[in-house]
Amino acid sequence: MRTTECESIILGATDYGEADRLVTFFCHEHGKLRGVARGAKRSRQRFGGALEPFARLHLQVSLKEGLVRIQGADILTVFPGIRTDLGRIGCAGYACELVDRLLPEGGANPRLFRLLAAFLEFLDHSPYAESARRFFEINLLNILGYRPALEHCAGCGAGLAGLERLGFSATAGGILCRNCGTGSMPVTAATVTLLHRCLSTGRFGAVDFPPSALAEAGKLLDASIAIHLSRPLNSLVFLCELKEQAPGGSIQND
Ligand SMILES: [Zn+2]
Repeated sequence: MRTTECESIILGATDYGEADRLVTFFCHEHGKLRGVARGAKRSRQRFGGALEPFARLHLQVSLKEGLVRIQGADILTVFPGIRTDLGRIGCAGYACELVDRLLPEGGANPRLFRLLAAFLEFLDHSPYAESARRFFEINLLNILGYRPALEHCAGCGAGLAGLERLGFSATAGGILCRNCGTGSMPVTAATVTLLHRCLSTGRFGAVDFPPSALAEAGKLLDASIAIHLSRPLNSLVFLCELKEQAPGGSIQND
């Protein structure tokens, strides 16, 4: 069993027995791992309350098959800006749960690590905006190889350039031309263009969806994610409740 230090983001943590914490974390070098931190509930000195969702830290871990042993933690940031705002807490929790549920265990994925870290950085300094969440989702699907087809009809393979009214089906695997898309979810070319832009710019906040495109992109992405999940995300329920209280998409607590 070798002990190593790795830069990680906590995806989820629960109490385990009398004194321990069971932690799922995303390590830059080793991918998603699950570990147990012995005595973490009691030892504030060794862990200092660091093992909380979406904290970014250096973990000292003993790697072995199955559960790894977490020996200690040095916090890089707990993203204090996120923790002042319910909307941002909900969104950061959602991003971590989504990564946890879609990313298989083991195997490094530095691109996805950078995407999640950049999203948390963004949320730490900016109010929650639905556009940023959708930006995160399309890039996440792209990195994991789950992105819906946007350039060609997922039914017949025809190019979509110049077509204004399109359809979408998650089960068909993407955007559909008018012939193939009869009865499917309607999508405009403008929304597809914005989704493309999310993939070509690496910067959160660079793409702002107008309300109608945001609604379309939201439905399309929700459906594209849902087909890869065996059960709904817990954090999505919280996020939807917040959204109902602040239907404009921007959630700020006072
Ligand atoms: Zn077609």
